[in-house]
Amino acid sequence: MKYAVIADIHANLAALEAVLTDVEKDSAIAEIWCLGDIVGYGPDPHRCIEIIEKRCSACIAGNHDWAAIDKIDSSSFNPDAAVAIEWTSRQLKTGDIHFLESLPMTLEKKSFTLAHGSPHDPIWEYILSPQDAEKSLGFFKTPNCFIGHSHSPAWFECTRSCSRHGFLQDTSIKLGKRRHLINPGSVGQPRDGIPDAAYAIYDSDAETVTLRRIPYDIAETQQRMQDAGLPEWLIGRLAEGR
Ligand code: ZN
Repeated sequence: MKYAVIADIHANLAALEAVLTDVEKDSAIAEIWCLGDIVGYGPDPHRCIEIIEKRCSACIAGNHDWAAIDKIDSSSFNPDAAVAIEWTSRQLKTGDIHFLESLPMTLEKKSFTLAHGSPHDPIWEYILSPQDAEKSLGFFKTPNCFIGHSHSPAWFECTRSCSRHGFLQDTSIKLGKRRHLINPGSVGQPRDGIPDAAYAIYDSDAETVTLRRIPYDIAETQQRMQDAGLPEWLIGRLAEGR
């Protein structure tokens, strides 16, 4: 069985649609799991929530999802992110708010725990270094964990200590005796210098996780952000993948 794992969609409808079109090409993909931050930054929060709610069998909360409905304090957001979150709040319909409200902080699926930030602090904490990954090992019971939040594809292989590896397009991680924390990158706002949408495919029979990169119509998203009056810096960074 295969599972598509998507994270950090950030209301980028063109990127989400491009990823879902790619998912549909592989008929062995049975489910889609979402690691949170459906909204924030981007121009289509309502449509993205609608699609995620319909298409994903599992979804957890990200910091932007809960900031948009005032469930958490967004005072630590940078000024552009704060402007975007206020704009996002105004676009949400009642059903969207209920859906975001209902998202759990973590879930267990097959051999993976799903956490937006880290298993230790699922909403806020970044896992960037091997030390960050080591700190989280005691906070999840499954062998492996999918994380998002940093918008950079990466994976950590752990025994007592962890090592960090970049996660490149169409490469696969072989799961096994060691524990893994895997970040599939961001669908809607990649920050690893590659502007293409990123997501991962977990094959539970082969015990592999493969990274996919999908080009999408960046100019279309940028135009919709212009029309919505969203901050220039957020519009420009999509083309840079930064
Ligand atoms: Zn995010």
